[in-house]
Amino acid sequence: MEHGVTAGVFMKKFDVSVPRKMFWSNDVGGTGFCPLCQGRLEQESHSYLLIIRESRDIQSFIVGNDRGHFCERCPVVVLDYETFEQSALAGNPSSRSFEFTVPGIVDLDAIPEENADIPIGDDDNPIPLVRFANYRDGEPVKKKRKRGKISKAHRKRKSNRRAKSSR
Ligand SMILES: [Zn+2]
Repeated sequence: MEHGVTAGVFMKKFDVSVPRKMFWSNDVGGTGFCPLCQGRLEQESHSYLLIIRESRDIQSFIVGNDRGHFCERCPVVVLDYETFEQSALAGNPSSRSFEFTVPGIVDLDAIPEENADIPIGDDDNPIPLVRFANYRDGEPVKKKRKRGKISKAHRKRKSNRRAKSSR
């Protein structure tokens, strides 16, 4: 039987409720080995909170992908920078430059079943964010200059779910 869409049916190998240190792939030379213990990294599909800041406008999105590389031996995840950069570009409507950051993993399994129909980020269904152990509010976020315009069609195709700001 297929249970693909129901949250919590499949056990993930990596328990996201454990706070992890996060590193960007381009800062640690790739996604092959853990920057702290040199253990092997393994990809697993999870959801992340992505915060985009354009001048004074801050938006947050939940993005799901399998480009988080988890250490088998210690609480570390290495995120593929380009994947998140692309998600940030896709969520960025207009400005020439913007910043983005990922403060943590969204623990979808922590959402009560009765909240399944309530948008994540709603007052009645707060985002179950597990902050990265090395994330601090106010730390400089990644900067990126936008290379070109993103067509409307492209933006529509993205499956990024809009979430209300967690601030
Ligand atoms: Zn490790």
